[in-house]
Amino acid sequence: MAKVLFKNGFVLSMNDKVGDVDADVLVDGTTIKQVGKNLAAAGAEVVDATGMMIMPGMSDTHCHLWETPFKGRIAEGWGMEYFTNIHPLASTVDPEDLYAGIYAGCIEALYTGTTSMFDYSHCIRSPEHADAAVEALRDSGMRAIFGYDLRGKDHSGRSALAPGAARFKDIERIRSKLSNDKASLVRLAVCLSEVSPESAKDVLREVEFTRSLGVRGSWHCNKAGEIEFLDKHGVMGPDLMPAHGNYTTDRDLDILGAMGGFLSTQTEAETYAGRRSMSMMARGHRRGVKIALGMDVPVIMNYGLHHQMRLCFYLQRYMDGVNERHEAQSPVSRRPGVPTFSTRDVLRTTTTNCAEANGVGDIVGQIAPGYQADLLLLDTSLFGRAEGDAAGHVVLNSSSGDIKSVMVAGEFRKRDGKMVGVDMAKMLAAREKARDHIYAGAGQVPGKPKLGYWHWGEGVS
Ligand SMILES: [Zn+2]
Repeated sequence: MAKVLFKNGFVLSMNDKVGDVDADVLVDGTTIKQVGKNLAAAGAEVVDATGMMIMPGMSDTHCHLWETPFKGRIAEGWGMEYFTNIHPLASTVDPEDLYAGIYAGCIEALYTGTTSMFDYSHCIRSPEHADAAVEALRDSGMRAIFGYDLRGKDHSGRSALAPGAARFKDIERIRSKLSNDKASLVRLAVCLSEVSPESAKDVLREVEFTRSLGVRGSWHCNKAGEIEFLDKHGVMGPDLMPAHGNYTTDRDLDILGAMGGFLSTQTEAETYAGRRSMSMMARGHRRGVKIALGMDVPVIMNYGLHHQMRLCFYLQRYMDGVNERHEAQSPVSRRPGVPTFSTRDVLRTTTTNCAEANGVGDIVGQIAPGYQADLLLLDTSLFGRAEGDAAGHVVLNSSSGDIKSVMVAGEFRKRDGKMVGVDMAKMLAAREKARDHIYAGAGQVPGKPKLGYWHWGEGVS
């Protein structure tokens, strides 16, 4: 593979040894070889990075890529209406539709600076669906984790795969197709059933199965006490990543923090539907839990993690202020632990924390020799860089639109503002075709959602 030498950039490395420094970065093949001043390399392509911030590519720890074709479908949704309107569409998604949605999602994510994605794939109805999902991730060139969901969202009876242990065999088949090598671009994870006393036996078996494959697990953690429950049964570990966790107790977070665990949260998705407390971010952070962001549902949120980070920062500040006032601290003042997050803390939620949560923290998420060359060139040439911590510039003073170039494992995926090796018109047409096909199967049309509203006591209509 080629050598690329980025000259005269400003490196925001997220690496303690390298720090933030005006420097060159030499990429050799898939990895970063050197970071330093006045580098030279025979045979390397030289890229002028003057005015560019060279930073790690961002990682998303929780996204349902199959929903990409339904962008804007429930912009006005509220409460539980995402579940009543979007999940039923899974029953009409064919493998070709799934490929188109996942591929389009990956391309948009890459374009907006996300180089790594945990695809929580809960639209797998058949082995052909699983194959299509893996192919789409692989074809995108993104670093991805295919999270094979043991449940699936199809309740129509059309699924060729029953939920739970009935899927083990097909997951083993996928496992045999994918390398477990850390540097491999597409790896497998298992998404567990919901955790409850009734499902205990099944979930414990699923965790055992997940570990027998040598892969990581995740689950939608939507009730208090789930982490404590798994810990009591002796199976909780940092290789299992709870997603959401809004209702986690302090005891749950004590356990998670003590084991160096991660919590995947999605600031826009959590706040969109007015359903969830967000206190777990600060409570977890104080206990050593590493918060890792994601965007969750492309139906409502747009790709790119800048806005997730910014909301994380401002929302936590708002909550910190409210808490201070509840304790009669007015005007609020700075004291240990308040405010909760610095901008650097927030940048970790899309770089180092996510890479660690995905099990690749020693080779992804930092700009340093030996790390995979997953990096971004963030343009500061027009309006300059904010003063102070460069992380502050990324979180508060830049946007996805500033991302000029994106590299994954030493390959340019976006260069000078344009995607590389992607037929954009074909990608978009396939995404729209998939959307129309899925809606037709569900008796719906684009632009006119047949909304199922949800109200207490009236059920779903
Ligand atoms: Zn989710």
